[in-house]
Amino acid sequence: MSNLIDSHVNFGHELLKNSVSDICKDALENNIERILSINSNIHEFQKDINLIKGFNFVDITLGHHPNNTLDIKPEEIKTLLNENIKKFKDRIVGIGETGLDYHYDIPKNKQIESLEIHLDAASVYNLPCIIHMRDAEEDMIKILTKYSKKIDDILIHCFTGSEEFAKKCIDLGCFFSLSGIITFKNANKLRDTIKILPIKKIIFETDSPYLTPDPLRGKSNKPSYLKIIVEKYCEITGNDYINTCEISTYNYKKLFKIND
Ligand SMILES: [Zn+2]
Repeated sequence: MSNLIDSHVNFGHELLKNSVSDICKDALENNIERILSINSNIHEFQKDINLIKGFNFVDITLGHHPNNTLDIKPEEIKTLLNENIKKFKDRIVGIGETGLDYHYDIPKNKQIESLEIHLDAASVYNLPCIIHMRDAEEDMIKILTKYSKKIDDILIHCFTGSEEFAKKCIDLGCFFSLSGIITFKNANKLRDTIKILPIKKIIFETDSPYLTPDPLRGKSNKPSYLKIIVEKYCEITGNDYINTCEISTYNYKKLFKIND
C-alpha cells in the first residue's frame, strides 16, 4: 500500500484533543505518513502545538478561522501571527486556516481584513496560506489575484467551489485539497468539477473530526479514513491509486517545503 498525507486535521477539537496519540498510531498503521494539524483559533495555538509535541511527522499551521473573526481584534491577529511564527518557525509550515465564509452572518469587511492580515504574514515569512472559502467566490478571487504574486503558494482547502472558481484558481496556480465531500451522495456537481483540477496541484484531507466520508457518515472522522477519499478521487477521474498517492504526497511536500 502506498503512503498518503492527511493535510487537514483539527486536533484541537473536543472530540480529538484527548486522543491525539491513538489517532496518530492508527494513522501510521494505515499508511498515513504525515498529518497537518490545523490551528483555526489563534488564541489556542499554544494548546495546539502542545498536543503534537513529540510527533515529528505532524506539521502545524497558525491562523484564525473566518468564523472566529469576531473573537479578536485585527491588531491582535497581527501580533499573535508574528510572535508565534518567530517562536515556532521550525514547526509552522503554513499560515491558516483563514479565508472567507459568507454562509454565516459575520461581517464581510471584518473577514476580509483578517484574511489580508494572514496573507501579508504569508508573504513576509515565505509560507503558503491555507484558505477556507464558502459562498464567497467573487471576493476571494479578487483578493487572491491581488496576493498571488506576493506569496509562495495558496491552498484552497476542502475544495467545494464552482467550475468557474476552480478555473480562476488554476490560473492563479493554487493547490486544492479534496475532502470527504467528494464521496457525498449529493456532490455530483463537485465530482464533475474536480475532473478539471490538475493532479500536480492536488492533495487530500479528512478535516477530522468533520466530513466523514461515505459510507461511514455519522462516525467521527479520522486520518486513517483518508484512503476512502483518494479511492473515490481515482474512481471519478480514472487515475491510478498508487500514482495518485505518490503524486499527492509529493505535492504536499513541495507545497509545505518538507524535506525528509
Ligand atoms: Zn475550513
